[in-house]
Amino acid sequence: MSDTVFTKIINREISADIVYEDDRALAFRDINPQAPTHILVIPKKTIPRLASAEDADQQLLGHLLLIVKKVAAQEGLDNGYRVVINNGAQGGQTVDHLHLHLLGGRSMEWPPG
Ligand code: AMP
Repeated sequence: MSDTVFTKIINREISADIVYEDDRALAFRDINPQAPTHILVIPKKTIPRLASAEDADQQLLGHLLLIVKKVAAQEGLDNGYRVVINNGAQGGQTVDHLHLHLLGGRSMEWPPG
């Protein structure tokens, strides 16, 4: 499987505006922001999409959600935010490395497009 752009960011082969990192995960600003704050939270382990996650990934998936919470607080998103996971082609996923979108800084609409 060839590296995605996110693997290259993890390996520092391409640059990104990183806002959080630990041994299992990374968070960085989306290059094409859809809200005043748009951050991607990704596992360092290559999991192509949510549908590829396994029972053994349970702790890692929970860890990613808690990072979203921490980064949202760090970014001052006290009035709320949205968390999105696009899964597969019809889900709108364009990068085959699991990522959580953290969107905030404006009111969100529902239903999403
Ligand atoms: P998705 O469509 O859910 O797969 O989301 C992929 C996201 O990755 C999009 O919002 C892109 O703008 C973002 N993206 C792609 N390349 C980069 C990059 N080099 N640095 C930061 N964000 C990126």
